[in-house]
Amino acid sequence: MTQKMLSEAEGYDILRKYDLPVPEYQIVKSGEDAAHAAERMGCPVVMKIISPQIVHKSDAGGVIVGIGSRKAALGAFTKIIDGAKAYNPDAHIEGVIVEQQAEPGLELIIGGRTDPAFGKVITFGMGGTMVELMKDVTLRILPITEDEIRQMIKEINAYPLIAGYRGSKPRDEEELVRIIGNVARFFEENERVVEFDINPIRLYEKGACAVDARVIVNDEIAVVEKVARIPVPMEYFNPRSIAVVGASQDSSKMGYAVMHNLLHFPGQLYPVNNKRSEIQGLKAYPSITAIPAPVDLAVITVPAIHVPAVIAECGAKGVPMAVIITAGFKEMGEGGKALEDRVLEIAKRNGTRIIGPNCLGVIIPPRGIDTTYVHQSPKPGNIAFISQSGAIINTVVDWSLAKNIGFSNVISVGNQSDLDFLDYLRYVGKDEKTKAIIMYIEQITDGKGFMEVVSEVAKIKPVIAIKAGSSRRGQAAASSHTGSLSGSYDVYMEAFRKSGVIAVHTLTGAFLAAQMLAHPKRYPKGKRAVIITNAGGYAVLSSDYAERYGVEIVDLPKEVIDELNEFLPEFWNKGNPIDLLGDATEKRFEKTFSVLAKHEDLWDIAFIITFPNLVLTSEQMAKQILKFSGMTPNRLVATLLGGDSMNTGREILKEHDIPSFEELDYTYRVVGRVLWQKFRVKAPGLL
Ligand code: ADP
Ligand code: MG
Repeated sequence: MTQKMLSEAEGYDILRKYDLPVPEYQIVKSGEDAAHAAERMGCPVVMKIISPQIVHKSDAGGVIVGIGSRKAALGAFTKIIDGAKAYNPDAHIEGVIVEQQAEPGLELIIGGRTDPAFGKVITFGMGGTMVELMKDVTLRILPITEDEIRQMIKEINAYPLIAGYRGSKPRDEEELVRIIGNVARFFEENERVVEFDINPIRLYEKGACAVDARVIVNDEIAVVEKVARIPVPMEYFNPRSIAVVGASQDSSKMGYAVMHNLLHFPGQLYPVNNKRSEIQGLKAYPSITAIPAPVDLAVITVPAIHVPAVIAECGAKGVPMAVIITAGFKEMGEGGKALEDRVLEIAKRNGTRIIGPNCLGVIIPPRGIDTTYVHQSPKPGNIAFISQSGAIINTVVDWSLAKNIGFSNVISVGNQSDLDFLDYLRYVGKDEKTKAIIMYIEQITDGKGFMEVVSEVAKIKPVIAIKAGSSRRGQAAASSHTGSLSGSYDVYMEAFRKSGVIAVHTLTGAFLAAQMLAHPKRYPKGKRAVIITNAGGYAVLSSDYAERYGVEIVDLPKEVIDELNEFLPEFWNKGNPIDLLGDATEKRFEKTFSVLAKHEDLWDIAFIITFPNLVLTSEQMAKQILKFSGMTPNRLVATLLGGDSMNTGREILKEHDIPSFEELDYTYRVVGRVLWQKFRVKAPGLL
């Protein structure tokens, strides 16, 4: 498949078909013709080089604007041709385009490209020759609605230049909406177009005009094969019997650790080893077919070369699913890929579903299942963690024990030869124990399929994702087209946003967000906040953080202040954040909470921030917070600041799925990120 760049003139012709404003033009091959064309069109005109080898015409001295006469057109022709030859002696020069000079206007860019995972993407932002410098662009994955187009326009930093800034008249935003809509349609309808940019398009108080168009087409249409996927039955994740093939008595072997972690499994556990008759206290079998009862799940740790035979045996035995922990497959290159294909082919033939290979497998703490070799199994809980990295699972599990965080499922996806992210998402989406889902993602191949599935799951359960690979290093493209302006990471971020997934950057952030959203109330219904604290300093910091992360602090109406005045000390701050002062007792909090619950329509989210002291224990605080939460449908977020002395309160809250944060900045970051996903608040900050 080869790609070719259309000429500016061909680009204009296509755009015109989509009712997009472009200048009149004529292609000329001599100075004399250029002079005629200029005369016919009426000066001033612009002349530009036409050569498939010259992508950036300005760089080659290939653009001359403001040509005001016949004579100037003659001179410009020679100058452009000579300049182009000097710039690139091998460039094939097709001629020169003479076009009407458009009025000065706000220069914008509308571009498009094809993402390998998510398909066609459209970008919009500040244009002109300084696009790379400004990097003020936003993107959307097609298809796109008119609402999204309007949102996209408002999203760029330079939006005030469109809306009218400091006395300048507003520009034709409606025309811009229409143009982006038509451009999106052009991109969607023309399958061969893989990339384009219209840079610049000039926007006026009335109307607009595109003055450059670069369109790249494939010589053939890429056919994406849609493989029919067979869903995995839920009960496959609830086996009553497990066989470990490669189970070992030697503690330095993987088969030992896996066996060891499965000893707590309440169902039947069968070690398979052709050299020993007993392993870790259990009767061992020479092969999986020798087991005298049905096997629901096989866990395989034997060397890669033996895996095809073991999978064939699983087929003979009628094992519905196998976890292949062994590495040495696709990740090792061609040879490994061939081996993996063979394994998959055998599995398919027998209807055996495969997890992995090259993975840790699954941990389902509520069912006592742990096929991994993690140091210590995690506790049961309500978070599902799906990870593309085994090492991250090891660290997260270890860390969760110290933090007293539990899991409904921990899944290491490995090479995803058969079951992939989509299957696991569907499963945890339906799994009753799972209240929030965290994914660690390096790469997704079927982006569209992913969006479809994750959008459905995110409607019923919060989904949080960490995407690795945000650095531009290694991301191809030094060219000035849109490709280098928005990397594939940005496309992932947009895919997440569009599908209702909360994107975060840190594991701590992921778990805090998951804990917050695991509560049955899930998302706050809006961004209006009340803040209640006994710590003046934190009231000030709260205002700073709230502003930074997009949380809106509401003004309390007189009526509420009056009600609070009735019992609060005379010199309280009479505003929001509500500072109950350092000597605030349980009672003072309780009364304040009931006033706020009574006026629950005024706010969507309450931040409660307390520090350890002698008049208020963390238990008392937790008790009041729970009572408050029971009185209102609004979301509460607690920050019990301090060290271990607050732990009792934190634990009580955690049992009721109310996370209590230890660092105030994090509280607002998490809420800001959640609001960003739900309400697209500006400047949510990183998490
Ligand atoms: P490049 O290949 O370098 O992107 P362009 O065709 O975008 O070349 O031209 C460079 C600049 O010249 C544009 O950013 C625009 O400001 C100006 N320009 C180009 N064509 C016209 C035109 N028809 N009318 C007015 N200005 C133009
Ligand atoms: Mg240009």
